[in-house]
Amino acid sequence: RLYNEVIELKGNIRVFCRCRPLNNDEIAKGCTAVVDFDSSLDNELKIIGADSSKKQFKFDHIFRPEDNQEAVFEQTSPLVVSVLDGFNVCIFAYGQTGTGKTFTMEGTAENRGVNYRTLEELFRVSEERSDIMRYQLFVSMLEVYNEKIRDLLVEDADQPAKKLEVKQSAEGTQEVPGLSEVPVHKTDEVWQLLKRGSCARSVGSTNANELSSRSHCLLRVTVLGENLVNGQRTRSHLWLVDLAGSERVGKIEVEGERLKESQFINKSLSSLGDVISALASKTSHIPYRNSKLTHILQSSLGGDCKTLMFVQISPSSADLGETVCSLNFASRVR
Ligand code: ADP
Ligand code: MG
Repeated sequence: RLYNEVIELKGNIRVFCRCRPLNNDEIAKGCTAVVDFDSSLDNELKIIGADSSKKQFKFDHIFRPEDNQEAVFEQTSPLVVSVLDGFNVCIFAYGQTGTGKTFTMEGTAENRGVNYRTLEELFRVSEERSDIMRYQLFVSMLEVYNEKIRDLLVEDADQPAKKLEVKQSAEGTQEVPGLSEVPVHKTDEVWQLLKRGSCARSVGSTNANELSSRSHCLLRVTVLGENLVNGQRTRSHLWLVDLAGSERVGKIEVEGERLKESQFINKSLSSLGDVISALASKTSHIPYRNSKLTHILQSSLGGDCKTLMFVQISPSSADLGETVCSLNFASRVR
């Protein structure tokens, strides 16, 4: 309830910033931390420039290097639970490669991220409401690479990949016909399923990490709800998106395949920024069609849909330029 009141005050778009710890490599190389959290507030930080100048950024919440996965999920869970009330929700992790997008969303076996915790929470709340609501949950996973959509949960991975496209349904919503939807009932099944999807990301690539930094990975949770008292039915989507790395690749070093890839990434990330900032400024024309990513998400971005972006940053002096770019991007959509 409290959350919904806050939403009315602040709109449906939130931005959280998360800064990872300085790693051993960076320490060994003598990199220093350029992010200053020297404030009692949990919603502002300062970036210390090479000339010691300080630039302040404000977001809805800022997670510091010492904040763990629980702390992150605590702030995220009210939003994910609203999918059970029939709202469409999109959560994005944005940032340079190596800043913790996959850590935040997928996490590791020991430090599970938002994706797994979300399903766990949805099961818990559906159980809690089982007197009055019946819920069915389905999971889909897809990858967008070079503006092509690939299903990550196909049964037989040796099959030639189906070509998936975004189509408008009779109800006017944007759908991806043919995309696998796996029914899920309990937490045990989910971790394996998420792992299967994330392994499928690397098929056909010699370097899994490389490819995953250049594609967008979308996990979709579909919720069918039935109110047992009045018979009312709802269908809603929650999207959990691990975006391609936002780093700009040097124009000179890059050519051929790699250049094409980086152009597709730039285009889709800037389209995403355009869509969210158009929504934030309540412009009437929202340019969803400019990229596959925003087109897929069209029915879950805008209107009364809820959006959260994690802007992931590195604390290292070596990444200063990219960090400022990411923070500027995120300030634009806020
Ligand atoms: P990205 O997906 O943005 O490329 P990763 O999620 O792969 O980045 O993170 C890069 C490395 O940093 C990984 O080894 C990850 O475990 C580690 N890492 C990222 N964020 C954190 C964090 N908040 N705390 C501890 N380790 C982190
Ligand atoms: Mg990653």
